[in-house]
Amino acid sequence: MRCIFHVDVNSAFLSWSALEILKKDPGAVDLRTIPSAVGGDVETRHGIITAKSIPAKAYHVETGEPVVKALAKCPELVLVRSDFKAYRRYSGELMKILGEYTPYVEQASIDEAYMDVSGLEDAGCALAHRIRERVRDELGFTVNVGISENKFLAKTASDFEKPDKVHTLFPKEVPEKLWPMPIGKLHGCGDATAQRLIRAGINTIGDAAHTDPGLLQGLLGKKAGAYIFERANGRDESEVHFEEREAKSYSNETTTAEDVTAENYESYGVPILKGLCEKVSGRLKRDRVYGATVNVIVKTASFKRHTRQLTLTNSTNDPDEIFKYAGQLMRELLFSKEGLFLSGETLRLIGVGVSNLDDGQSRQMDLTDWLGEKKRQEKRREKFRKLDEMMNSVRDKYGEKALRKGQQEDG
Ligand SMILES: [Mg+2]
Repeated sequence: MRCIFHVDVNSAFLSWSALEILKKDPGAVDLRTIPSAVGGDVETRHGIITAKSIPAKAYHVETGEPVVKALAKCPELVLVRSDFKAYRRYSGELMKILGEYTPYVEQASIDEAYMDVSGLEDAGCALAHRIRERVRDELGFTVNVGISENKFLAKTASDFEKPDKVHTLFPKEVPEKLWPMPIGKLHGCGDATAQRLIRAGINTIGDAAHTDPGLLQGLLGKKAGAYIFERANGRDESEVHFEEREAKSYSNETTTAEDVTAENYESYGVPILKGLCEKVSGRLKRDRVYGATVNVIVKTASFKRHTRQLTLTNSTNDPDEIFKYAGQLMRELLFSKEGLFLSGETLRLIGVGVSNLDDGQSRQMDLTDWLGEKKRQEKRREKFRKLDEMMNSVRDKYGEKALRKGQQEDG
């Protein structure tokens, strides 16, 4: 089962403008606490409102309406010009924090992102609250976090009550939380589509969910009809499209020459996985960094991407340790009750990544490290680490092929 977060900055442009003003003049009034808006040309009062404060909302000032109209509703409305240079900077700072939790971050716009946190041990409300609080305390602006099993439901959830809130909208909550909403509120349903549906007597998202899909397709066309029907029923298979950002995660993946199956996994898949772990480890070591989150990625023969990840107490760049956890994640992903192999899938691509990077200096000592067994493990790890360092220096001197641990590397 997937766990997807949608993180959305509350009144992004307005909050960021307010912060920028406060940064230059700490005594200035906080725009977020008064009726204010970003938009248009402040002097000539032309243009449209692009963001508004919560107090401005009480005057029914709306995003997208002409400045003149907004001023008619609220004469004391304070207007500020947009500052995209600052917005891009705040946006970047937000993405940086999100990227510390998982490499699977898709920035959907300047102020929102999806995170695929599937398989993170603490994926759920507690993690969402931690992210929300960190952003507020470290960056000075607030976000809403929506949680669900797919992007559509997570995005819908993040739009519930604001600001500074976490909401869930799991499939089992769809009848209670999604279906009473007006059809026009369905993300991806434009005004024209909504009007057409309302004329056909489909007023709520629940109405659409219970309409025959063929009828919706007759009304809206094949693609749009299917889209509305699927989303109204809370379904969305689309993936979190992430880009590997330089120096935020280290990963290697390979398309396999043959399909990896339940039968050949041990003999064929595992050595490939091990080779990938060694490559990732080698790159981490070359840059003298450690990572606390290990993730695996596979692509099935039906071209679907699946991921699993977990976060360790202590960051690592040790190939055996990475392999140990990557192997566990793979087994869970492939052989568990809902595993891919059990549902008849085969694999075309395998990848391993390490993220949540640090310099290894702040690695905490686990309380259990005091126990003898843990200490022995640590000693053994240290021995291996030294051995690896030795191997690395030999590699550096004589090239990659000089020393190998007897594993086959992919091409
Ligand atoms: Mg927003």
